[in-house]
Amino acid sequence: MLERILSVKYTEAGEYHRINGVECQDHVEVFEDEEMFIAVLSDGIGSLSNALLSAQCTCKSAITCLYNYNLGFSPETIAEGVVDYIQQQLLELAVQKEISPETMGCTLAFVALKKRTGEAVMGSLGDSAVCVLSNDGSHVYSNYYGGSATGSILDADAASTMLIDRINTGERDVLGFVLCSDGLENEIYIKGSTAPLKSAEFYINGFETEEKEMGLLETRIAHLKSQQPDQFDDDIGIIIVKLNEGKLSLPDEPTWLCTCGARNSIQQTYCERCQKDFSVIYRGIRFKSYDDKRAYFLNENQKENHPDSV
Ligand SMILES: [Zn+2]
Repeated sequence: MLERILSVKYTEAGEYHRINGVECQDHVEVFEDEEMFIAVLSDGIGSLSNALLSAQCTCKSAITCLYNYNLGFSPETIAEGVVDYIQQQLLELAVQKEISPETMGCTLAFVALKKRTGEAVMGSLGDSAVCVLSNDGSHVYSNYYGGSATGSILDADAASTMLIDRINTGERDVLGFVLCSDGLENEIYIKGSTAPLKSAEFYINGFETEEKEMGLLETRIAHLKSQQPDQFDDDIGIIIVKLNEGKLSLPDEPTWLCTCGARNSIQQTYCERCQKDFSVIYRGIRFKSYDDKRAYFLNENQKENHPDSV
């Protein structure tokens, strides 16, 4: 029985949208009663004129559908049921507002929890992510499929590309979930990766009260935007859900070693200390692959993998 679920949700317009007077197109919603807790995030596809409207309708529809759906069905059946219901709601909205469905589109990420049993169903469509955070094995669900394409709820193949999984939060000692849009890529997860980044710890471990977490979150996001303006200038949407006490401790991440001796996180292309380009230093050298990165070094095998000269 899940007694006390803490959650905060937050959205912020990206730099480009702010400059151009466009509102944030990420939308987040949380629903809770005695039986269920549902968190839903949707990132409106930026190039479409009714992106935000789509994201709002998608979140509301997903909550209605997940609340009434039998979550014991197979993942394929859940994906079809959720996608069909949301598509129908979006198309009805298009008729009602007299807009073209071609101007609508958004991603979807959700977690639906049965409080009595602790069972959770996670879903992801497009490049928005759901992270399950547990010392017993953390996981990122995000169905990025390369290139510039983003899966959208109105795609013909939406149900078949949607990732659905389930977990018993009690059996797997799940501390919580983080749902986020691609605005927090390289902070909480790396595109294409299934392992959350070490920094995902921060979003669960600071959680004592909702007010405290909101304060920490705002400070962290302001910090990210000031540190790397090029990397964190998309719309940001995030929902943090904390189920249990306890601190998350994720394994250390692989790093790459620069010729100057500095270690850099694998999401960095340029050396933090001397600005050398990773792909120039390691040109033509094949290492073990790590998700979408061509090469990496673990701390313990740096010597055997490191080239002597460049
Ligand atoms: Zn360097």
